[in-house]
Amino acid sequence: MTRPRMIRLEKSPTGVRIECASCPHWHGYRQTMPAAHESAGEHERLVHPGDYRARNAAKMYAARHAARASNV
Ligand SMILES: [Zn+2]
Repeated sequence: MTRPRMIRLEKSPTGVRIECASCPHWHGYRQTMPAAHESAGEHERLVHPGDYRARNAAKMYAARHAARASNV
């Protein structure tokens, strides 16, 4: 599986930049990863409604972190 990821989240010390490979003119910026996933999913829903990768990634992220939080 070598499908390119369309929407990338790039962490930095101050926040998370959201970049879409299909939309070089667009980028988002959020302070936390959950918020960044939400922003990526929102962009995908509005601009790329046939694609679900960002929203699946957001779901996986949320599930992973919910599981981790309940295990601690
Ligand atoms: Zn886009």
